[in-house]
Amino acid sequence: MTAPVYERVALIGLGLIASSMFWAIKRGGLAGEVTGYARSEATRETARRIGLCDRVCDSAAEAAEGADLVVLCVPVGAMGRVAEEIAPVLKAGACVSDVGSVKRAVINAVAPHLPDGVHFVPAHPLAGTEHSGPEAGFAELYDNRWCIIVPGAEDTDPEAIAKVRTLWEGMGANVDEMDADHHDLVLAVTSHVPHAIAYTMVGVADHLRRVTESEVIKYSAAGFRDFTRIAASDPTMWRDVFLNNKEATLDILGRFTEELFVLQRAIRMEDGDHLHDYFTKTRAVRRSIIEAGQDTDAPNFGREAPKP
Ligand code: NAP
Repeated sequence: MTAPVYERVALIGLGLIASSMFWAIKRGGLAGEVTGYARSEATRETARRIGLCDRVCDSAAEAAEGADLVVLCVPVGAMGRVAEEIAPVLKAGACVSDVGSVKRAVINAVAPHLPDGVHFVPAHPLAGTEHSGPEAGFAELYDNRWCIIVPGAEDTDPEAIAKVRTLWEGMGANVDEMDADHHDLVLAVTSHVPHAIAYTMVGVADHLRRVTESEVIKYSAAGFRDFTRIAASDPTMWRDVFLNNKEATLDILGRFTEELFVLQRAIRMEDGDHLHDYFTKTRAVRRSIIEAGQDTDAPNFGREAPKP
């Protein structure tokens, strides 16, 4: 086992992302001690029961005090308040990071609270499931997934960035660096708008109560099921993502709507060539995702058929 990257790491918020970080940090021996804090007593009790964190604290400040790295793992809309709470106890030379799905809004909310001499290295692991909470995490979540580091300022200490990079690589991730606005646009395309579409599609089906009570659920394997998995994602997290990545999301949703109108017209005009060309191009996108090792080529994502 290699030497720890940090002596003390504090995880603030103990849901899917933080718990997976904890198990991955332990797997790699990446920190001497990991403290943790969640706002509800129930989550702290669960964390203590399952051995999540070496020490579960009763306040964010207690968890962050003396830590070399503090990672904010709460919903995007709560990052600023948590940063304000821990700021007075951060030690000189410590690093603050986060895992928020939106970067510009988090930088704007967190950076003003951090004292001089504390580094700020935001990050975003592109990994997750539709499950949340302290029991949802597992050590392998970040294996061969991307983590994007978005330094909070142009003059961020390169050594602080390098250590956050080493931590994520130790947790199994591939690491890239990106500017915050570019990150938010890329994620609007790859994650935020697809979630908006899934939420809408499931909402549409739900409005058609006549069918949802029977056929939609029964025949869901025809494609709808994959929308329902995405649309089961945490409502608080996703409310905050849309409210904090408003411009990029609206921009991409606008483009999506335009494409949808073109598709609608092609179907109405029975323009089979257009549809075939379009679907040929989209199929190639799927192939490149598989070639990049970001998904399986197995039929139906390698899922077994449900038992009768
Ligand atoms: P989660 O499983 O729902 O856990 C969220 C944690 O934050 C819980 O410990 C919760 O405390 C705490 N929390 C919620 N609201 C809070 C508030 N207002 N103030 C303080 N603490 C609060 O969420 P997650 O999936 O780990 O997501 C955490 C962060 O990672 C989010 O910023 C999200 O954007 C980002 N992220 C998520 C994914 C994903 O797929 N899930 C992927 C990449 C990044 P209680 O348990 O006490 O309520």
